[in-house]
This record gives sequence, C-alpha cells and structure tokens, in this order.
Amino acid sequence: MSTNKLEALKKYFGYDSFRPQQSEIIDTIMANRDCMVLMPTGGGKSVCFQIPAVLRDGLTIVISPLIALMKDQVEALRGNGINAAFLNSTISGAEQDQIMWQIRLGELKLLYIAPERLFAGNTFDLLREWNVTLFAIDESHCISSWGHDFRPEYRQLNLLKLRFPDVPIVALTATADRVTRRDILKQLNIEHAETFISSFDRPNLSLNVLPGRKRIEQIQRFVNKHEGQPGIIYCLSRKGTETVAASLQKAGFRVAYYHAGMPGDKRSQVQENFLRDDIQIIVATIAFGMGIDKSNVRWVIHYNLPSNVESFYQEIGRAGRDGASADTVLFYSYLDIITRQDMINNSDQSAEQKELLHAKLNRMKQYAEADICRRRILLSYFNEPVDHDCGNCDVCRNPRTRFDATIIAQKALSGIARTEQKVAMGMLIDILRGSRNRNIIQHGYERLPTFGVGHELRTDEWSEYLGQMLNSGVMDIAYDEAHSFKLNPVSWQVLKGERQIELVKFIPLSERKAKEEELVPKEKPKQEIIRDALFERLRQLRKKLADALGVPPYVVFSDASLSEMAQKKPVSEAQMKAVSGVGAEKFRRYGEAFINEILDFARENNAPGTRVMKGMTFVETLDLYNEGYSVKVIAEKRNLNPVTIISHLVKLKEDGHAINLKSLIEPAAYTAIITAAQEIRAGKNDPLKPLFELLNERYDYGQLRLALAIWEEERQN
Ligand code: ADP
Ligand code: ZN
Repeated sequence: MSTNKLEALKKYFGYDSFRPQQSEIIDTIMANRDCMVLMPTGGGKSVCFQIPAVLRDGLTIVISPLIALMKDQVEALRGNGINAAFLNSTISGAEQDQIMWQIRLGELKLLYIAPERLFAGNTFDLLREWNVTLFAIDESHCISSWGHDFRPEYRQLNLLKLRFPDVPIVALTATADRVTRRDILKQLNIEHAETFISSFDRPNLSLNVLPGRKRIEQIQRFVNKHEGQPGIIYCLSRKGTETVAASLQKAGFRVAYYHAGMPGDKRSQVQENFLRDDIQIIVATIAFGMGIDKSNVRWVIHYNLPSNVESFYQEIGRAGRDGASADTVLFYSYLDIITRQDMINNSDQSAEQKELLHAKLNRMKQYAEADICRRRILLSYFNEPVDHDCGNCDVCRNPRTRFDATIIAQKALSGIARTEQKVAMGMLIDILRGSRNRNIIQHGYERLPTFGVGHELRTDEWSEYLGQMLNSGVMDIAYDEAHSFKLNPVSWQVLKGERQIELVKFIPLSERKAKEEELVPKEKPKQEIIRDALFERLRQLRKKLADALGVPPYVVFSDASLSEMAQKKPVSEAQMKAVSGVGAEKFRRYGEAFINEILDFARENNAPGTRVMKGMTFVETLDLYNEGYSVKVIAEKRNLNPVTIISHLVKLKEDGHAINLKSLIEPAAYTAIITAAQEIRAGKNDPLKPLFELLNERYDYGQLRLALAIWEEERQN
C-alpha cells in the first residue's frame, strides 16, 4: 500500500515525497476513517483526498463553496491525468448528462460540487446510486458560525453522515482556532474523527514591515525589483484600491483594481486576467482572494493594517503557494491603528464583541511593532512552539537594539506641554526640528523654548519614535481632537525625571538589509543570467500554451517547476520527469515542447566562450554522430532512448547541421509511414499518436518523427 500512494504521487503529481502529515492522512482515509485536516493555505491539502480518490474504485465527492475555484481545480486534475468534473450552475444540461454517464460507468474519480447544488433537485438521492467512497469537505469552517466565513448552506452537510454512515468524511480547513474546529466536527457528526494539525509555518514567505510613509514610492521601488512577478496589494478602502492602481498604472505597470463595489462581470474579468498573467498586479480590498488558487503569486503587500492576525495570515498565504520563495510587506504607522480602533468603536457591535475585536487588533499591532523575529509572533499566535529565529524576516535581518531614550521623550513631551496639548504629530515634529513654516509662525511656536531642541533627529526618526512612545503609553492621542497628543500620568513621570524610557533604535530604510540575494553585488554571475533568461523563455512558452488551452499558466507548470527546469536544463524524458511537478500526464502533454525550448535556448547561447552549454545533451549527440556512430550506439553510449536521439538529430538538421536523415531509416519503413501520413493528412507538427495507431504500432515514434521530417524537407525542396 505504502508504495502505491508514493507511486501515485509521482505518477500523477510528479512529486517525490509527501509533505508532513499527508501520508498519515491518506492512510486514515484509505482505512475508511473520518478525519479532519488543518493545514495553512498552500500547505497541500488537496493531495490528501486526491490520492485516495485515484487509488480506489468509486467516486470522491468534493464539497467546495467556491464555484470559480472548482473549474481551476478540475482543470488541474485533468492536466495531471485524473478524471474529474464539477457540477454547478455554469454547466449545461448536455455536459451534465455526460458527467452522469461517466459516473455510472465508474470512470469519474472526483466530482466537485457546491453544497447548494448538492441539495437541489434530486442530486442528493442520486448519491445512493453512485459508488461514493469518500466525502471531502473543503473550506469546512464554512459550516461553523464561529468561523470567519459562515455559509448557511453548509449546514445541510450534517445529513451526509446520517445518510451514509459507512462513507468516510474528510473535513479540510486552514482555520486553526479551537472553537471552530470542535464545531466543524460536531456539525458534520464526526466528533470521534482524528484531527491532523500541520505546522502553520510557511518558511518560503519572507515577512517584512515597513514604516508607512511614502507608501506609493516604496511600492514602486518594490515592484521594480520584482519585475514581471504577479502580486497583490491589499487596501482598506475601495477608493484606496483605485488610487493606488492609478498611480502604478501611470508608472507603466500592468495593474487593475478589484473591490466589491464593481459589477460582477468586471470583477470576474479582472480576476481572470490576473490568473492568466495578463495583468501583473491586483490592487484589492479583502473582497479579493477567496477562491484564488493561483500558485505563482510572488508577493503580497498590505497597504493598510489588517484587522486581525488570522486575516493577515490568510492574505499573505496567497503568495508562494507553489513553495518557491515569495515576499510579503506590511506598511505600518500609528495612524493605521487609530483608524482601525475608530472603525471598531463606531461599529454597531455589542460591547463584548468590540472588546474581542480590540484584543484581536492588538495582536496585529504586536506583530507590526515586533522587535523579535516576526515569525515567532505569528506562529505563537497559532499556538505553535518555535525554537529558533527564522532568518527570513526583516527583524532577523536587521536585529533591533534598544537605547535609553528618556531625553528624546522629555523633549517631545515638553513640546506637547508647551503647546497646551493642542498639536498633532506633524506640527510637533516641525516644532522639535525647528522648521520655520507658515503654520508655525502663525501660532507663534517659533518662540517656544522647545523650538528646535530636536533638530538632531530627522523627520522619519521623530515620527518613528513618537509612534513608539504612543504605542507604549508614554502619552495619549485624542482622535476626536484632530489627533492631538495628550499628556497622561506616565508622561508627567517622564517629564519630572522619575521614569526612564527605552525605545527601539530606528534604522533608516536605506540602511536596512534587504533579502540575501539583494545583498550580493549588482553584477550577477553569468550562470545566473543565463538561468534567469531561460526561466523567462520557459515562462513565455508556458503562457503561450496556457492561452491556447484556455487555462491559467500555473495549471501547465508551477513557477517552482519552471525554475527547476531553468536550473537543471532537462533534455531527456527521464531528466524532465525528475523535475518536481512533472508527472506522466504533464510530460505527455508538454514535455517535448519544454525540452525543445531548452534545446533552442542552448543552441542560441552556445556561442564560443559561453561554456555553460557545453555539457548539453544535444551537443553530445552531435559530436557522437559526427564521429560516425549509429543512432543505436549513440543511444547506448548516452543511456538515452533512441527516440530521443532521433529527435535530437532532426532538430540538428533543421538547425542547419549536415545530417543525412535518410540514412537513418529503412526505405520501406519510410514509404509505409508517409503513405499512412498522407491518408490522415498528418504533418510534422501534428500529434504522432493517430499515425502510430494507424500503422498498428509497427514503427516507433522516433521513426515516425524522422520520416515526417524527411518528407517535409523533400516537399520544401
Ligand atoms: P491547499 O489546498 O492546502 O491550499 P494545495 O493542495 O493547493 O494547498 O497545494 C499547494 C501546492 O503544493 C500545490 O501546488 C501542490 O501541487 C503542492 N504540493 C502538494 N503536495 C506536495 C508534495 N508532497 N510535494 C511537493 N508539492 C506539493
Ligand atoms: Zn525572523
């Protein structure tokens, strides 16, 4: 059994090993036991029920709330050679009939369906006639009113266990909190179910918090560094999304905004364009993201502070789902906290609810203001023990130091006292720094004894330190009085010298260490330039194929797979299949196209002096051919399939090398193949399978390709 599931993982998904827990979960399901799976977004939940689905006879029903997502998931499964379908309102009657037949014939492995569709018409009764072997409830927190996304139509799922006591249920979610978890099991009537909780760590996501000043400028710099990489910018307001998008558009980026105030068709259009890599950047409210399965999102920026850590983690979790590295940035200033507090205070929630929301906001604030590893804070929020600093957050890269800031604090507080507690941040900083602007003169503030006492600190330093003081209760702020600062008992203690204040040393942006790769000198090694250029070529090929097939590019191959190809330059079937994410079906569909692209690239870059491509298989084949060896011997020497050698030689010939293709094939075979090809009008670029079958599988694919190449050449002459 254990080899079977590993074989299936390799064959269908192209992966060599299971991630933690996946294997145990699969065993549990295969033993017909109910279970619950908690994994972060991108953790790999789907494989847990998809492998049992392919390993067993019968049908797996997948309940999913997100119609848009179903289509992509089914597309991805088919792309991996697994027969799946979905039922929802977008399916025509004829398509539905076809699906029903496939189910009756036992051909369909997975059926995706929304709960409202499951309980509409006679579908639920039909389940009895089908050989259902597993129910997978995706986004299962939707069944609980304690969860953050309750959907009443999920409630009816309690019928599943009552009507089908022998069919196992697997409930999957990325929501960790205990109350919701217990409620899910209760609502589904599977209280005894075993629960698998994976680590919520996503080490491939870098965590960064930047001071919330000049956000647009910072974003432009960031996006320039992430050329061509898809990303999401989350804003608090609809208006905000439009402004930010407009400014990026002006700077020449392919960008669109997305919020709930737009008409539905416009929204789907934007989403679709993003999925297909036709636009690079989405600026959105939190309305965007549910139902996005795009695995190659390379970065997420929070323009404003999210209201709680769960939402924040879910939103950044949309980056790097393919496991390749991805960046996250949160902009933060004390004003963001105030805005959020106002929103809670002015909402019509009960006092109790408000208290809860404030408490949740406070945890978010702790993350933003952390002076220890930020990942520690996130993971401990999810009750996960952490025993080391992550090395992939801005605090780890720029360790913070504290210093005695009593004098700084006294200067600021005395400025507040002398202005009768009427000034807000901007004005106070101008007074401290001694800026003689019109506003200052108007109020006569330039005559205050505190005027200019803080000129040694820059504006951004003051703004950082005042924010820190505020956050640690050294003074208060009155948001009902134009955000003016107010003194409190702690302030007076500091002013009287009865209390010391420590602050965290401010590191100017220009001195902050960015990610490791940005630390290395600007000039990239040649090897890397070539790798990046090849990645770009493969990305373009992926886009072309995806567009032709009408699917999003990441359904063809993930960024992680492309990047491995660019690194290892696989040029044979075995090498290609060794790339993570290249299963049998993916290879059958796209293997040749990608190998050819890699070979083309190799040839173009094989100019004298670039040593890199010397080891390329292609060149080796040419060398052996020139030494006079036959295809069979070359294949043996190189431990490759003769078909591959022939495809090399055909390519080499097209490329202008002197190769006598005709000498590689028996005249009788050539005639037979060409006669058959004419019969079905098969050309050099058509799939070979029909020809192969028409000839009763007598000639291998290498001979077919060879004959067609010769024929084509003769026709051209
Ligand atoms: P979730 O549903 O938990 O958000 P997915 O099931 O979509 O996550 O998986 C996230 C990504 O991880 C997908 O690209 C998937 O193919 C990949 N993945 C899943 N299992 C493995 C594995 N064992 N090895 C490598 N990649 C995996
Ligand atoms: Zn860290």
